[in-house]
Amino acid sequence: MAKICLCLTGKTLERNLDLLAKYRKYVDVAELRVDCLDPDERFLIRRFPEQAGVPVILTIRRKEEGGYFSGGEGSRISLFSKGLAFAEADRRKNFAYVDLEEDLNVPSLEEAARTFGTRIIRSFHNNKGVDDNLVERMKKLRHVGDEIVKAAVFPQNLADVLRIYRAAGETRDFDKVLLGMGHYGTNTRILADKLGSYLSFVSAKDEPEAVLAAPGQLDPKELVEIYRFRKLNPSTILFGIVGFPLHATSSPSFFNQVYTEENINAVYVPFPADSLESFMELAKELGIKGASVTVPYKEKILPYLAVQSEKVWALEACNTIVASPEGWMGYNTDCRGFSDSLLNFTGEKDLRGQRVTIIGAGGAARAVAAEVYRLKGKALVLNRTVVRAKRLAMAYKFAWGSADAEGAELMKRYNSIVIQTTSVGMEPAPGEDPLPDYQFNGKEKVMDLIYKPHETLFLKRAVEAGCAVQNGYDMLIRQAIYQYLFFMGTEFPSGLMNRIRMS
Ligand code: NAP
Repeated sequence: MAKICLCLTGKTLERNLDLLAKYRKYVDVAELRVDCLDPDERFLIRRFPEQAGVPVILTIRRKEEGGYFSGGEGSRISLFSKGLAFAEADRRKNFAYVDLEEDLNVPSLEEAARTFGTRIIRSFHNNKGVDDNLVERMKKLRHVGDEIVKAAVFPQNLADVLRIYRAAGETRDFDKVLLGMGHYGTNTRILADKLGSYLSFVSAKDEPEAVLAAPGQLDPKELVEIYRFRKLNPSTILFGIVGFPLHATSSPSFFNQVYTEENINAVYVPFPADSLESFMELAKELGIKGASVTVPYKEKILPYLAVQSEKVWALEACNTIVASPEGWMGYNTDCRGFSDSLLNFTGEKDLRGQRVTIIGAGGAARAVAAEVYRLKGKALVLNRTVVRAKRLAMAYKFAWGSADAEGAELMKRYNSIVIQTTSVGMEPAPGEDPLPDYQFNGKEKVMDLIYKPHETLFLKRAVEAGCAVQNGYDMLIRQAIYQYLFFMGTEFPSGLMNRIRMS
């Protein structure tokens, strides 16, 4: 099983020991990043392994490789020597590992390490991409054969991530650490075991003055408690969410807690994807059993489906895919998630007599419009791209318009309920408003499908005018409960919601 390694990037050894004590229960190994230490502290590293009480990696990373060491090679080598000097017979008092980069060939260091049982990690870092010859480069890192090979590469897209998983398959016969840095690569840190990686690196990134050791690292608690790292094994069923940029999603937190509570051997992982085609290939490679589909892929996913549910067929929008022997089955759980949530919010049984504005005409808006129609509401659809508003509205004999001053004027006749379905105002751009021209009169019931941030600018304006409001969190949970049924083939366990804590 892959070990969890906490990167210690504090400026002092004392600070690093405090960090280690705080996260001790989540980690197996620590990496002392000597390059992050204050210069005076660097001379005191020799006793650190004994003080740490866990196996420690000695690393002095150069700036070129994403580290902070700016001195010359001579002084770096002499620091390595200090760390490996005066080795003790009791191995726990020595560094357990030393990270020597691909081009650092100093026989005396290697000899010192081997003599006292310090394992050599032979590493390279590609901070710009994923090498075309990744497998060959990894194989070449093994000089003697006892080294742990470490390749840290920086995928620029999901196709690069796929290449990392494939390279893992071709390098199964030796100890290695293979990981993808950055947002695209985070799943390789969660699925380190699947890659056959010896270690997965984490950082105490929420700590004050935290220095991130490498982009895309997770917090130790997040890796263990949200992503169930310690429970993952070759039989773990893989689920996920695909979207782009996928910076704001609570679905992993929800599903992984469900698996923990119900003792289900599964994990739910985010897959930010610049290309749906790459995701479908990756899903096949990893054997993903089911996935949530979010912005901007709810329509683009349709050509990949072998079977579409009636709702997907009617709405031309799919937010849930499940692998089957025939191929991918597509479902839409946004519909019922939305209407259950709206009716709970308004306290009504249906929308008879209600005049509703739907802002947006994307995948989510299609689900919303279908449900407003099913519940007998009358609606106006406003969208930046008017032709899409028109197309959606015409399917249900609704009115349509543009998401601007003209549309805001029309909206005055459709404002008992306002449903905001665009991605405008969502993190990481919470300062945006999809319809600044509309002034709330305070009587509207306003629902925004966004849930990160908790209160969008649009909802904030509605609250200030005195409107009743609801964000998209309740809908997210309700649609996820329907997704659970499709993913697992069984009803969501009753009473389970009371045990789930969400962020
Ligand atoms: P989508 O299919 O990509 O549609 C995006 C919509 O937003 C379109 O109407 C688009 O208008 C509009 N839009 C995007 N950028 C815009 C901009 N800069 N200015 C004006 N309009 C813009 O996405 P979706 O799947 O419908 O999702 C939309 C939002 O709903 C997302 O924030 C998503 O997280 C949220 N959502 C929440 C839940 C939940 O459970 N709470 C479920 C589903 C969706 P154009 O047509 O002009 O491009």
